[in-house]
Amino acid sequence: METIIGIDLGTTNSEVAVIQDGQPRVIPDENDRMILPSFFGLSEDGQILVGEAAKNQYALYPERTIKSIKRKMGTDELVKIGDNQYTPQEVSAIILRALKQRAEKYLGHEVKKAVITVPAFFSDAQRQATRDAGEIAGLEVVRIINEPTSASLAYETKHHQEEKILVYDLGGGTFDVSVVSIHAGLVEVLSSHGNNHLGGDDFDEKLYLYIFDYLKNEFSKEEIEKLNDDQRFHARLLRAAEKAKQELSDRPYASIEEEYLTERDGKPYHLSLEISRHLYEEMIHPLIEETLEAIHTALQGANLNPSQINQFLLVGGATRTPYISNLIQERLNITPRQELEPDLCVAMGAAIQAGMIAGEKVASVLVDVTPYTFGPSVLGELNGMPYPDVFIPVIKKNTPIPVSKSEVFYTMYDFQKAVEVKVYQGEDPDALKNILIGSFMVEGLSRVPANNEIIFQLDLDLDGILRISATEKRTGLKKNIVIENAMSQFKEEEKEKAKDRIDQLFGPSSPTFSTGEEQAPTKEVRERIVQGKALVEKAEKILPVIPEEDKEEVINLIEGIQDNIQKSDLGALTMEIEELSEILFYLEA
Ligand code: AMP
Repeated sequence: METIIGIDLGTTNSEVAVIQDGQPRVIPDENDRMILPSFFGLSEDGQILVGEAAKNQYALYPERTIKSIKRKMGTDELVKIGDNQYTPQEVSAIILRALKQRAEKYLGHEVKKAVITVPAFFSDAQRQATRDAGEIAGLEVVRIINEPTSASLAYETKHHQEEKILVYDLGGGTFDVSVVSIHAGLVEVLSSHGNNHLGGDDFDEKLYLYIFDYLKNEFSKEEIEKLNDDQRFHARLLRAAEKAKQELSDRPYASIEEEYLTERDGKPYHLSLEISRHLYEEMIHPLIEETLEAIHTALQGANLNPSQINQFLLVGGATRTPYISNLIQERLNITPRQELEPDLCVAMGAAIQAGMIAGEKVASVLVDVTPYTFGPSVLGELNGMPYPDVFIPVIKKNTPIPVSKSEVFYTMYDFQKAVEVKVYQGEDPDALKNILIGSFMVEGLSRVPANNEIIFQLDLDLDGILRISATEKRTGLKKNIVIENAMSQFKEEEKEKAKDRIDQLFGPSSPTFSTGEEQAPTKEVRERIVQGKALVEKAEKILPVIPEEDKEEVINLIEGIQDNIQKSDLGALTMEIEELSEILFYLEA
């Protein structure tokens, strides 16, 4: 049987895949990288650079490098490098040739045929240009298929009933939403809507501006003007921004580092600053809002409402940004599917289509995903009420493994000395209805006011080993445990037994992450704590003007209240609050 390869020829990145043993496999390069950046360049000595090497050079020599050629497909605009001019088809052919060679090396034989994907909105001229690029690269293009169709194929190869699938595709430089109807292998794009100039690159741009603003405070106006004229400086900042962006998909903070960025006062200047995911999400919020509006437009185009969508697929590397799936879930009440690598699934679908044309047997795609959600419990709100055991998903069900995710949580009280970390497996927002799989204390926290940041991290590997850690951000104080069989299924009675065991150990209302106390405070205790804190604040304010003979007693009561807030001792707290209130009342009078 003749091999036909499937190619995702993307604006930012491209991939090639093939069917092996009934499964689509994305073909790696010799360094095990699946993704080939869609970059082409010439090195200083005139050597052709494609992919990673060209992308790396772009940071330093953008004038000798071409990126995003896909945007120009179907036009007769020429691109120039040095003295050479290229048509968009030629540049695309160079990328396709690199993918063809990668496949041949991997398979050990020549490859002559390919299925290539294009966006649903591509015009005939753009499709023809893609075909031409394939032929120039030495490939017979047996079919051009739409990217959303390809993604739908990767997610399910056999559809017995008609399904409506929404494909949300956010790549590096383009965004589109398509509604696809699929039935018995027949796929039809019902509507497609998007923005050809919106993507992960715009997220990089936001971070880039943030870094630039920071540098404006570090350097004089003249120095900034000089830096502003330096193309390499900009390219390096953009690269640092992209790296930080990707880190923020898995971590609550990212550090932006560029060694030897420039010079200051004759000395090398190393850029080093930190950004929180929270701030980053605020920056990209308007861009994501735009994509959410596009979903509605695409749905209207297909005459459907969100509840009629059977599957919502996240495609494109930028959809690894968790803020996107969180907002989709919140606004449309749909859990998007993302168990296939979002930047690889279009190529996988192309390989499935190619395999079907070649007459190969193609099975449903198998991926290793976690069957459960994992996360800690915190003091939060459940059904509009304060609740000590709110479950916070950190690694969500159906996430491809291995995976590593972290989140930041905060201490609740001033001078809180410890937190107890309790990790659950399950899907219920009430942690106590899930399975407690591990717990530990982090003791010896710094003596600082409330909201001390604790970074909670989960690493789950293919063998079901879950590594859990909690780290005080300001000091690096860390505690961790390992759960050997985190993905094993608990049967109902085991679940009950586990619950009993845990209840015996900790009491039914067990302590939470943010309190760090042995017993979670009841509503009454929580109210008393708020009252106590307000009173202490008031007393501390007037302390300098309190007559000497009363001062000692007030100080003792302040300390007592603080101590009993820590201990959540309702009786003692109530007594001391009453006493301090009385003294303050008498003093004010
Ligand atoms: P694609 O065109 O589908 O390969 O997507 C490329 C875009 O995905 C680029 O903007 C990448 O920076 C972005 N991307 C890749 N990995 C991540 C990640 N972990 N988090 C956020 N964006 C990512």
